[in-house]
Amino acid sequence: MPELPEIETVKNYLNKVFLNNQIKNIKISNRKLRKEIPYNFENDVLNTTIKRIYRKAKYFILELDNEKSIIWHLGMSGTVETKDKKSYQKLKHDHVVLECDDEKLLVYNDARRFGMVDLCESAQIDSHGCFRDNGIEPFDKGFNEKYLIDKLKSKKINIKTALLDPKTVVGIGNIYASEALYYAGISPFRESNSLNKKEVIKLVKAIKDVLDKAIKAGGSSIRDYKKPDGEVGYFTLSHAVYGKEGQKCPNCKCDFNKTGGIKKSFLGGRSSFYCESKQK
Ligand SMILES: [Zn+2]
Repeated sequence: MPELPEIETVKNYLNKVFLNNQIKNIKISNRKLRKEIPYNFENDVLNTTIKRIYRKAKYFILELDNEKSIIWHLGMSGTVETKDKKSYQKLKHDHVVLECDDEKLLVYNDARRFGMVDLCESAQIDSHGCFRDNGIEPFDKGFNEKYLIDKLKSKKINIKTALLDPKTVVGIGNIYASEALYYAGISPFRESNSLNKKEVIKLVKAIKDVLDKAIKAGGSSIRDYKKPDGEVGYFTLSHAVYGKEGQKCPNCKCDFNKTGGIKKSFLGGRSSFYCESKQK
């Protein structure tokens, strides 16, 4: 599933191509995504101008000049790509196509249809069901050790699962939770409320660092994730532990002959990768 860095990459790209564009035509081939696309969508969106494009948690938002915003989620494997109207040939899972300036198309393809395209009043976005219970953004100044200690102190679950909960902090999925815990030297099995202040300081820094590094690399995530210009995300190779079971951990002092390298376990139904020697 695309995580924060991937959506940040998509958002940056869309900003370059579609900011201040007018939406001149809309084709919806399948409304039945995770949530049905509202039936007033075409009416409300046609002939509006996209005046702001930003990311919120793992969603990107197209703010229109009619006080409404499109809320978009890529689900497990959805992609958005730019195509030329003249050469465009519809693919099987192209569910939504927005035609913008200069005959550019914004094409949303999602084979598994876990994504979402919704519409809401721009002023009401914080209270939209996707956001109203959310915790803080990881790049927000308020995401610091004080905030995280407070969030974790009442949680009786392992720290890995706590990080995946958007009520703790938004945008961190399975990949970056594993990565951040590795860099912070904290075992994914630790009870959330057992972390001391020093460890939480390290964890906050590790979260910001891994996300920042991933954004700079252009996002990563799963193998079928694509950047909107069609290029497949390439940061996967730079992961320290995610997907690297049995391999040597990078910059780690552990003895490979004893540890057998990176371990994989299932926590809360999700795969976790870690070094049992470095992460305590
Ligand atoms: Zn190690």
